[in-house]
Amino acid sequence: MANLALRNLTKAFGNTEVLHGINLEVADGEFIVFVGPSGCGKSTTLRMIAGLEEVTSGEVIIGDKAVNNLEPKERDIAMVFQNYAIYPHMSVKKNIAFGLRSSKLSKEEKEARILEVAGILDMVPLLDRKPNALSGGQRQRVAIGRAMVRDPAVFLFDEPLSNLDAQLRTQMRLEIKKLHQRVGNTIVFVTHDQVEAMTMADRIVIMKDGHIQQIGTPAEVYHQPANAFVAQFIGAPS
Ligand code: ADP
Ligand code: MG
Repeated sequence: MANLALRNLTKAFGNTEVLHGINLEVADGEFIVFVGPSGCGKSTTLRMIAGLEEVTSGEVIIGDKAVNNLEPKERDIAMVFQNYAIYPHMSVKKNIAFGLRSSKLSKEEKEARILEVAGILDMVPLLDRKPNALSGGQRQRVAIGRAMVRDPAVFLFDEPLSNLDAQLRTQMRLEIKKLHQRVGNTIVFVTHDQVEAMTMADRIVIMKDGHIQQIGTPAEVYHQPANAFVAQFIGAPS
């Protein structure tokens, strides 16, 4: 069952069309990675799914609902950004709780949910700390916790690892993969790093200049690249 679909999605800024008809069906629980060079339209696609950018034409469907006209907070999504915007003046717990600010859960239910998420992320002992007393990886986990706490149908990640050093990046890839196996929500993950895409994705969406070049499993795009660009992009040493 698809729980996210993009139907002939286009985006223009002024007179310049930057996305030229994106089509994709994502199954419930799938880990999808959008990959492609800088400027190819990955973030714009993600921002249209999130409702942060207006759709020029086409449709975004989440669950069974066409969401083009819904505000971000009315969509069953949560987003983790590259600069992971967590609040420096708030404790870890308050930062995670922020993800529930428009939730209808009772105070007790919210408390339980925050503890559950902190447990999954191994952050219970850190709940009272401020972000400046955390490592880069821990801060990244807080941002993920804030997204997770809502249990969204779809998680959106926009290059969440690109500001981390190489070692931490590799570690966080594994953590996010494990997290996905544990919680099972659909993930749409954007990166310009083909190694990240190949190691994390169930299916990869390879983009160039606002067009999808190929959609397939890592093995498919590696062994049966649709064109020379895909072959070069996936095969290129990182
Ligand atoms: P990526 O995330 O793959 O690097 P983006 O989605 O950010 O690419 O950008 C796709 C294209 O749209 C680029 O050419 C970029 O310059 C353009 N673009 C993105 N945001 C805006 C904007 N707010 N106004 C005008 N052009 C934009
Ligand atoms: Mg981007």
